[in-house]
Amino acid sequence: MTDNQPTLAACPFCGGEADKPKRRAWGRGAYYVVFCGNDSCNAGGPNSGDTKQEAIDAWNTRPDEAVIKELVAYCGNLRKYVANGQEGSMSHSSHEDWLNEVDDILARLPERLKE
Ligand SMILES: [Zn+2]
Repeated sequence: MTDNQPTLAACPFCGGEADKPKRRAWGRGAYYVVFCGNDSCNAGGPNSGDTKQEAIDAWNTRPDEAVIKELVAYCGNLRKYVANGQEGSMSHSSHEDWLNEVDDILARLPERLKE
């Protein structure tokens, strides 16, 4: 990578250095995408950059691990609740409680992702 190129984050899968964005044809369109430079990894994406900078920004955007862990924990609890098919067996006593928690999580996510 030369000094005048924007900084690319390391590959989230192998930690390797990313290549500069490449133009790819896809269906009737085309987009720029960043790929990992490690040939044995070859991770890439997301496939949504109309410009090289958009591809770089997309590559460099990583999910907030705390938010994902919160969602995974919630979905696990919700699955148990649905699988049990009964109210009051989990941390919430009714469907209304679960709906309130979903609404609360959805309301807080945009702020959490900006942190
Ligand atoms: Zn990689």
